[in-house]
Amino acid sequence: MAEIEDNAQETEIRDTDIAFDCPHCGKNLVIDYRGAGLEIKCSACEKPVLVPIPDGMQLGDLDLDSGEILRQLFATRRNYQRAELEIRKLKTCLVQLKTALGAMETAVDEGLGEA
Ligand SMILES: [Zn+2]
Repeated sequence: MAEIEDNAQETEIRDTDIAFDCPHCGKNLVIDYRGAGLEIKCSACEKPVLVPIPDGMQLGDLDLDSGEILRQLFATRRNYQRAELEIRKLKTCLVQLKTALGAMETAVDEGLGEA
């Protein structure tokens, strides 16, 4: 968990720091740039806050090595593929349900016709 520097007003903000306001309580928070994209706890209201990623910030600016970035990229892609597979399964399921429903409706219609 990244540490938040307290007393943001008195702390000198470095170029590498990210300054932003807590969306919950509005407290001005300052965090080291390595905290970009991480979830931290607000030092004032203790609610989880997502640290914004500054415009133009490159992944390479982070201290992650390329292996770690690749690992995360592959994990994301795997999750994406799994989600696509689930969607395809659900679609197949939906078609089967529609077919079953159609058959039931036909059966009900025929039943009513005989009555
Ligand atoms: Zn807060």
